[in-house]
Amino acid sequence: MHIVVLSRNSKLYSTSRLVETIEESGHEATVLDHLKCDLVSEKDNPSIYYRGTKIEGVDAVIPRIGASVTFYGSAVVRQFEMMKIFTAVESQALVRSRDKLRSLQILARAGVGMPKTVFTNYSSEVKKVIASVGGPPLIVKLLEGTQGVGVVLAPTQKAAESIIQAFHSMKARVIVQEFIEEAKGEDIRAFVVDGKVVGAMKRKGKDGEFRSNVHRGGSVELIKLNKQQRKAALVAARSMGLSIAGVDMLQSDRGPLILEVNSSPGLEGIERATQKDIAGQIIRFIEKKVQQQRDNKSTR
Ligand code: ADP
Ligand code: GLU
Repeated sequence: MHIVVLSRNSKLYSTSRLVETIEESGHEATVLDHLKCDLVSEKDNPSIYYRGTKIEGVDAVIPRIGASVTFYGSAVVRQFEMMKIFTAVESQALVRSRDKLRSLQILARAGVGMPKTVFTNYSSEVKKVIASVGGPPLIVKLLEGTQGVGVVLAPTQKAAESIIQAFHSMKARVIVQEFIEEAKGEDIRAFVVDGKVVGAMKRKGKDGEFRSNVHRGGSVELIKLNKQQRKAALVAARSMGLSIAGVDMLQSDRGPLILEVNSSPGLEGIERATQKDIAGQIIRFIEKKVQQQRDNKSTR
């Protein structure tokens, strides 16, 4: 098989691990920077040019699209779909996962637990918004934030009101969320591939930090999920339409609560914590899907 990894930088840990694993599995790997792909649309003949050369003979694509380039990146993935090439992450699911609000709506409908969350159109009823998530302490999150930037803890009513008002006055959209104190600055990342949790880790914020993001100085540790956590991770990934996902959750007194479902989850932390070949699991999944697609074609 010839597998394309869509990534801006072939030196990134996840990208180079995927390339290495593709080659070790006896396949051909190519890294394409999605921002350098030109998409050609014409009747019945969609194609992609990369630095002037037509892309041909590709069997599968693994998108590794950063949040800041979701629009163009998802268009490139969609073009591969138009060319009937299997993609490990569907363009629609990618776009959906990047919209925090839409993700929460989908997850709520699927019946997974989550912190109680409010989103408003710059409501002037700030007190009511605060009351509806149970009052302070609460979390205010910038809708476009990632890696923990733009996630603020408001400990008191006064702080909550002024933080929300400040964001509103900057025309920054925020979600207001119940603070899960008992998570104690720890969150859980479950890595899902093809309907199975293939690895899980606990991330702990550094002292005095409620955010457990690795980019905020957090540390990681291997854990085994309990039944409830595993189920929550699988339902979350499935409801978002993602076969490969990093599902983030907090453990609360009322069970696991989903925070976010990541469609380009990093491999470094999870492979280090679990000592498992997660890249290998991704390639096995792709081999299976491409084979299924071929079998379907030959019986038609
Ligand atoms: P990002 O997408 O920027 O990483 P998250 O929503 O995942 O933002 O929040 C970053 C971190 O902040 C989480 O990993 C978690 O440790 C902490 N956190 C987020 N929401 C809550 C909450 N409602 N209660 C307690 N801690 C939270
Ligand atoms: N972007 C990385 C991921 O999806 C890291 C996120 C973080 O923990 O800061 O796993």
